[in-house]
Amino acid sequence: MKKKLKIGRVKTDQYKRSLLITCEVEIREKEDNKKELSICGNVWNTKHTDIETGGQISDTIAAYIAEGRFIPIMPIDTVKKILEIWDRWHLNALRAGCEHQRAEHWEAIKLDDSKPLTMDNMAVWKRPGENPKGLLTKPCPVCGYKYGTSWLYEPLPEEVISFINSL
Ligand SMILES: [Zn+2]
Repeated sequence: MKKKLKIGRVKTDQYKRSLLITCEVEIREKEDNKKELSICGNVWNTKHTDIETGGQISDTIAAYIAEGRFIPIMPIDTVKKILEIWDRWHLNALRAGCEHQRAEHWEAIKLDDSKPLTMDNMAVWKRPGENPKGLLTKPCPVCGYKYGTSWLYEPLPEEVISFINSL
């Protein structure tokens, strides 16, 4: 199941016309009845011939809303729910951490607290041997799973599937 949704438009300083924002939402069937959610966004140019930006842009869209530049096409509550599901469930079949590591937000742990959370500053991208704060391959204190050593599957809740189907 794959859907292309026109979620809204964004006002920019560059162009007179606002730019269309679309989302491609897909639930893929994997082996053993596993379902994987994938969401990608696109902000189109005024002629709709190419994109200005695209991919994992849920933060960008959330910023447009916060800045008052977003003009909804779908109801704003639906758009916010899509962003919430996007952040939480995108690629739920490719989890580097176990449920405990996810609950403790290992992906948000910084090597250097005074700097932003860029790829270079994410503790999960460094082994403990490379950096004392590194978390890559570090075992979970609860289940012993070593972070980043396989892709784990996190089942997609029925509620999320039915919401996506209703769009
Ligand atoms: Zn664990």
